[in-house]
Amino acid sequence: MDNNSAEKNKNLCKGCSLCCEYVCVEIDKPETKNDYDQIIWMLLHKDVWVYFDDKNEWYVQFNTQCEVLTNDKLCGIYHNRPRICRKHSQDSCERYGEGTIYKKIFRKKEDFIQWLKEKKVNYNFKGFEH
Ligand code: SF4
Ligand code: SF4
Repeated sequence: MDNNSAEKNKNLCKGCSLCCEYVCVEIDKPETKNDYDQIIWMLLHKDVWVYFDDKNEWYVQFNTQCEVLTNDKLCGIYHNRPRICRKHSQDSCERYGEGTIYKKIFRKKEDFIQWLKEKKVNYNFKGFEH
């Protein structure tokens, strides 16, 4: 990215810090009781969500703000920020792009269990009730 586009990007993000307030890690699409159990375990944790997107790719999201985000919602290490931050474009961001990244989001275990029930998935281990 050249200096001009870097400055343009910096200004476009002004006042918005959505992308700096969480970390997402891709996970395998859950297909077994062990997988479902693992997602329920993740969702039992505070500020941890699980979602899948339009491509049916699954992610775990940790809602935790970047340590170098300043009080006025700017990057405190803008010229030395990680590559992943540099590569992110506003074209596909939540503010200017195609809107939400979530096709389906689970914010607590009950959301996920409800979804499994709707899909008629047998998620319980024998003798173990969620
Ligand atoms: S949602 Fe868009 S404007 Fe907001 S921080 Fe992310 S890239 Fe910048
Ligand atoms: S390094 Fe800067 S751009 Fe990257 S997440 Fe942290 S505050 Fe945001």
